[in-house]
Amino acid sequence: MIYTLPPLPYAPDALEPKMSQETIEYHYGKHLQTYIDNLNRLCEGTPYAEMSLEDIILTASGPVFNNAAQVWNHTFFFNSLTPKPEPMPLELKDYLIRDFGSVETFKEKFKKAATDIFGSGWAWLAQDGDGKLHIIQESNAGNPMRAGLKPLLTIDVWEHAYYIDYRNRRAAFVDNCWELIDWKKVVERMHEPDPKYIEETVVVAETTRDGFTEMMAEAIMEDEKDMQKYVCVTCGWVYDPEEGDPENGIDPGTPFKDLPADWTCPACGVGKEYFEPER
Ligand code: MN
Repeated sequence: MIYTLPPLPYAPDALEPKMSQETIEYHYGKHLQTYIDNLNRLCEGTPYAEMSLEDIILTASGPVFNNAAQVWNHTFFFNSLTPKPEPMPLELKDYLIRDFGSVETFKEKFKKAATDIFGSGWAWLAQDGDGKLHIIQESNAGNPMRAGLKPLLTIDVWEHAYYIDYRNRRAAFVDNCWELIDWKKVVERMHEPDPKYIEETVVVAETTRDGFTEMMAEAIMEDEKDMQKYVCVTCGWVYDPEEGDPENGIDPGTPFKDLPADWTCPACGVGKEYFEPER
């Protein structure tokens, strides 16, 4: 499908002074437009052209993933803001108290997560298959749906999101952006039916139920254990678990040891026994 710039749900100057018209003109009008143009160009004539944006995000890697996720993330981000913010609905407060102890604790943890991301990225509030809420830091174009979580809210902390209005003061941007969040939208998203990726990746979500810190610790351990790349000694092709081998039915995130016994090198056709860990 051909992607076009999604409608901005408010006037370009409506979020001033917290987010200036100039920032919107660049961030929405130029950066998002560029991701859309790149995505259209990269998908043309490939199987991705027939896929939904979410399916692309769940299966693609490299530039296709990056541009698809940036289109999705930005659309979601701009739709998470409102010029007329209202107090947080009680229902959401109840969930935040249940999962973070208090609304204040959630607010502190979320702002810290957003401010602390090293380099470009996104801070997310996301929900697992059991309805539990998690704060997630993602680098670059990351999106928690890849881990089987339903996104509820995000703040963009790429420099392009704040440099015009705040220069290097990311924390000040996060504080002001917080005041623009459309909490009713967050609750609406909680009540939307679970997207299919939540079921598909429920095992991943299982490991995240005890909160952000534990999830990160497990993720790092899993990474060290399972994200080893393997190289084909016959032809030099490298199996990267982060990318998997989607063309042959291997999902991104599949460790080498979990590849089926009959999987073969997509470049030269030899079996798994011809692979050794990459140094
Ligand atoms: Mn951005």
